[in-house]
Amino acid sequence: MDAERVAQELRRLDVGAVQQEEPLARHTSFRIGGPAAIYLQPPNQEALVRALDWVHREAVPYFVLGQGTNVLVSDQGLDAVVLSPSRALRYVDTKGDQLIAGAGVLLTKLAHRAHQAGLGGMEFAVSIPGTLGGALVMNAGAHGTEMKDVVRQLVVWEPGVGVRLVSSTEADFAYRSSAFMRQKWIALEAQIELTPKDPGEILSTMRHHMEYRKRTQPVGDPNAGSVFKNPPNDYAGRLIESLGAKGWRLGDAEVSQVHANFIVNRGHATAHDVLGLMRRLRHEVYARYAVQLRPEVRWIGPGEGGFEATWENLWCEAGKGLTEPCE
Ligand SMILES: Cc1cc2nc3c(=O)[nH]c(=O)nc-3n(C[C@H](O)[C@H](O)[C@H](O)COP(=O)(O)OP(=O)(O)OC[C@H]3O[C@@H](n4cnc5c(N)ncnc54)[C@H](O)[C@@H]3O)c2cc1C
Repeated sequence: MDAERVAQELRRLDVGAVQQEEPLARHTSFRIGGPAAIYLQPPNQEALVRALDWVHREAVPYFVLGQGTNVLVSDQGLDAVVLSPSRALRYVDTKGDQLIAGAGVLLTKLAHRAHQAGLGGMEFAVSIPGTLGGALVMNAGAHGTEMKDVVRQLVVWEPGVGVRLVSSTEADFAYRSSAFMRQKWIALEAQIELTPKDPGEILSTMRHHMEYRKRTQPVGDPNAGSVFKNPPNDYAGRLIESLGAKGWRLGDAEVSQVHANFIVNRGHATAHDVLGLMRRLRHEVYARYAVQLRPEVRWIGPGEGGFEATWENLWCEAGKGLTEPCE
């Protein structure tokens, strides 16, 4: 990518401050990630859409980053335009039993707004970090509820098409996956349907969820939540813990002592360290239980299939010594 030319064009389009060589470690909860050639936080939806239309038309590589709480960004960074919708899309409105929210709003804020409006259904989200946009892509969930249970309709930007409505069915939400991953949609807004409920009851449930999280997750150290998805009828954390893997370390990446399915950054961990540790865990779990753990964290870096290369490619590329088959 010719970063100078792209930066110049984006400035001409008036889509917000264009930052070059912005370290993505500043924008991820792991505190890991090399620089983005260009980092852009458009001030409003029009500017965001203008920027998206332009990068798509010019075939400039781009990537939308929410709060960076579910990603592992390459140490080499990204030779791309990284767009953050956090400034452009951070509105929430109440309409009857619905919340209409921009994709840049924090999920925790949505849970609190629902509580203030006396609407139940968003309590599960009170301690899930990240933006609504990231939660839609990942179909984030906790305590038995997922985004798919509350989302009715979405507004997305589709490459080559522009802004359009998408139904919840079309979004095809499933366990930590959605059609966003395949369609390359960018989430702009969601209509969330809730149910009237006693605010005191809502608050008590939210407090319970927050306390549970403090007790069971490494809240103090940089991390990206669960690194692996739970395999059918089991828990990734249980399998990893049974290996005695809590405390295993590669560089400054460490399997959390609090929750075995979390990897924490103990200071200066690199993406390479985290990837190596994940590979080891995956290998040992497969060797002992013949279960293939699938990453929940998304890999953002060079690789086959664009910036979000499938992990399978990475495992296979790295291949050495793995016993499980490549797909
Ligand atoms: C301590 C901790 C606890 C967590 N607990 C949970 C939990 O209980 N349940 C759970 O489900 N997750 C959990 N997570 C993971 C994470 O919080 C969620 O997946 C969250 O929804 C990600 O949002 P984000 O804005 O940070 O997305 P990012 O990490 O920024 O992005 C994730 C993916 O979404 C894409 N994306 C982001 N915004 C948009 C958009 N507007 N349009 C299109 N694509 C977009 C990105 O390109 C990327 O592919 C946890 C993470 C941490 C650090």
